Amino acid sequence: MRAELLMIGTELLLGQVMDTNAARMAVTLAEQGVPLYQKTTVGDNEQRIVAAMRAALERCDVVLCSGGLGPTEDDITRECAAKLAGAPLVYHPELYEKLSAWYLRMRRSIPGNNKKQAMLPEGAVLLDNPKGTAPGFILEMARPGTQSPGFLACMPGVPHELDAMLENEVLPFLQSRFGLRQVVHSRVLKVCGLGESRVDSLIGDLILSQENPSIGLVAAPDVTRIRIAARAKDAAAAMALIEPVESEIRERLQGRVMGADGDTLEGVVDGLLAARNWRLAVIESATGGLIAQRLCAAGEESFAEARVLPVEEGHEEALEAAIDLASEVLIQTGANSSLILVADTESKGALGRFDCPDGTIEWTSRGDGRQARNQLRHAIIALEKVRCYLSGVPLTLEAPTP
Ligand code: ATP
Ligand code: MG
Repeated sequence: MRAELLMIGTELLLGQVMDTNAARMAVTLAEQGVPLYQKTTVGDNEQRIVAAMRAALERCDVVLCSGGLGPTEDDITRECAAKLAGAPLVYHPELYEKLSAWYLRMRRSIPGNNKKQAMLPEGAVLLDNPKGTAPGFILEMARPGTQSPGFLACMPGVPHELDAMLENEVLPFLQSRFGLRQVVHSRVLKVCGLGESRVDSLIGDLILSQENPSIGLVAAPDVTRIRIAARAKDAAAAMALIEPVESEIRERLQGRVMGADGDTLEGVVDGLLAARNWRLAVIESATGGLIAQRLCAAGEESFAEARVLPVEEGHEEALEAAIDLASEVLIQTGANSSLILVADTESKGALGRFDCPDGTIEWTSRGDGRQARNQLRHAIIALEKVRCYLSGVPLTLEAPTP
């Protein structure tokens, strides 16, 4: 089996939208053992899309397309697929009902040309889109110039809709159709407030010695990801290989694994506070409001109020003033915990403090709080300190034993 990607959209071709879909699709396909051979990007032009689909199907069995399934005039992927297959577009009234219900639920008016989205090439297998409107489809046709079957899988361009459809619909189809025998399943552990090199110093020997599962580190400014990937006959068998390695890594990192897979630091902190029925007030400078932004994004279960302050000269006085302000906010909001982060312009860093019914912790972090990358670091360190404190994790790491 050979697969290719076909990314559809003029905005991608011209670089106005970064093609992040292709990168994620490629990673997912590799994990599932689908061999990927080529990627093409094409604008919203019927002739060129049809030509690109044909060329890809000449080379491979499965073409995975992203984009151009929406209701607007420039969304022409389904027309192009139908044209290539020589199949008419068929109107599906039941699909139209479903789409209308979706728009109603979202309290949006149904676009006039939405009937378009209820049209599918004759013979296409419908791919459900629980996350949005544009349904996808898989169309089987003879590969150009051969008798062997080829498949065109068309999915929406909207990233989270595409991801869900690829994982829940397209991959199971490919697995059963092409009898892919092995899957690669992975688990991602997340570490915050510890750099890649620090994590490497604690688990580097495991990374080198492990083959199946393999371990890899991916560092980003706000989180270091430890990816444990196992190859096995199915996801459950892969997880069985992953579990002991995960436990070993968690132990080596002494509680500093913040979460796994979809977990976020702010979500974990919010959950820890909410489990105690505590509510948090935030006073922050040196972060540009990032702590409040993240807690709001996490669902705000425990979030009471935030005050975002400008970076001011001075240090200890700024902390004192922030503590006073926090007391006022606690009274006003009835919250019982406060997270304070103020810039310390003298040491070009930040002073942090977390107060809760169980006690108080203080810390410092480095970096001028007027710069975006430092603001992010200060915010992450603050949230991680709170997480560690509430989870009973020591705030400082022990050096690895040789
Ligand atoms: P819609 O129903 O929204 O029109 P669609 O299937 O027609 O969905 P497009 O119109 O091609 O998809 O893209 C919708 C949006 O999804 C784009 O505006 C863009 O923000 C995003 N998008 C599309 N393709 C990609 C891609 N390859 N990488 C990242 N984002 C993308
Ligand atoms: Mg569109």
